[in-house]
Amino acid sequence: MTKRDYYEILGVQKDADLAAIKKEYRRLAIKYHPDKNPGDKEAEEKFKEAAEAYEVLSDSEKRARYDRFGHAGVGESGGFSGGGMTMEDIFRHFGNVFGDSGSPFDSFFGGERSYQSGNGGGERGSNIRIKINLSLEEISEGAQKKIKIKKDVNCNVCHGSGAKDSGSVTTCPTCKGSGYVRQVRSTFLGQMATTSGCPSCNGSGKKITSFCQSCRGSGVAQGEETIEINIPAGVEDGMQLSMRGKGNKGRNNGPSGDLIVNIEEKQHDEFTRDGKNVIYETNLNFSDLVLGTDITVPTLKGKVKINIPAGTPAGKIFRLKGKGIGVLNSYEKGDQLIHVNVWIPKKVSNEEIEMLNKLKISPNFEPGEKQKGKGFFERMKEFFN
Ligand SMILES: [Zn+2]
Ligand SMILES: [Zn+2]
Repeated sequence: MTKRDYYEILGVQKDADLAAIKKEYRRLAIKYHPDKNPGDKEAEEKFKEAAEAYEVLSDSEKRARYDRFGHAGVGESGGFSGGGMTMEDIFRHFGNVFGDSGSPFDSFFGGERSYQSGNGGGERGSNIRIKINLSLEEISEGAQKKIKIKKDVNCNVCHGSGAKDSGSVTTCPTCKGSGYVRQVRSTFLGQMATTSGCPSCNGSGKKITSFCQSCRGSGVAQGEETIEINIPAGVEDGMQLSMRGKGNKGRNNGPSGDLIVNIEEKQHDEFTRDGKNVIYETNLNFSDLVLGTDITVPTLKGKVKINIPAGTPAGKIFRLKGKGIGVLNSYEKGDQLIHVNVWIPKKVSNEEIEMLNKLKISPNFEPGEKQKGKGFFERMKEFFN
């Protein structure tokens, strides 16, 4: 499924400020709000789409990554998160957009709890952030990492309920077990029935009379999990990938938070990266450039022999097709560029001085008019034209 551009979804310009983004999101959220469009799947999708766009564009860090890397930069690449926010996520965000006190939207949306579960009612667990340091070799091919993470997991005594045993759970008297309370309110749009989470049981529909000793009623305990993380080829330093539901377990059977993986790129001893290409610098001696030679160069996948033809000028760039880095969300691969520099010795013997002085006066070593003053950057330009 190809995703629509976030700016396009919200109908704002690329340079729109936060106020404009917020305004457009608010307009769309009201238009497509599920309370106003009951059972309308298309409206629900539009509602979710707008929320996702808003989530990214309202966060300067995420927006910068989106501008740079597109959808891939905000955790939609490879096996990550897979797109789409849950209604819970969206309503959490309403706290920011609509939750200003005194705003008419508060009553319209029934507070930020209106859609909170009913399937347990516990609060969502927090996100966990980790860093992953990757070599260029790993980035080039994509990598699988198994990482052990300390996190909140379900309490294994009460299995997350927080109750001592099944006899210490009763039906919540406030909501009679539904987890919701309904209210009819007058809003600027007329009478609106809103449903919100039951305040007494936080939407669980249950009341605990005696708590689990092990977790003291929270339903969570310190634990760890080994998580397999698939990193697609072509990621860059500073990218962030999120794995939904792999964060801390929520209290009282609440949903888990996300695992946010920050990508860091290790500096390579031999290569520098230029987007999808890798650059390798090599110093050859003057005689080899004049007479030609075979050299062996490292690549991200082993050594490769290349021929330097006779008469190769210093600054020449050789290209090894497909020996670069994989491109995110594509089968494309970059190249390895070999920059050939001339090696200038710091010390020379008397004998060498004599030979070099002989070369100086040889007619073949007199620079021609065309070669005079032709610098590295001019040759680079020629190469890329
Ligand atoms: Zn427990
Ligand atoms: Zn209740």
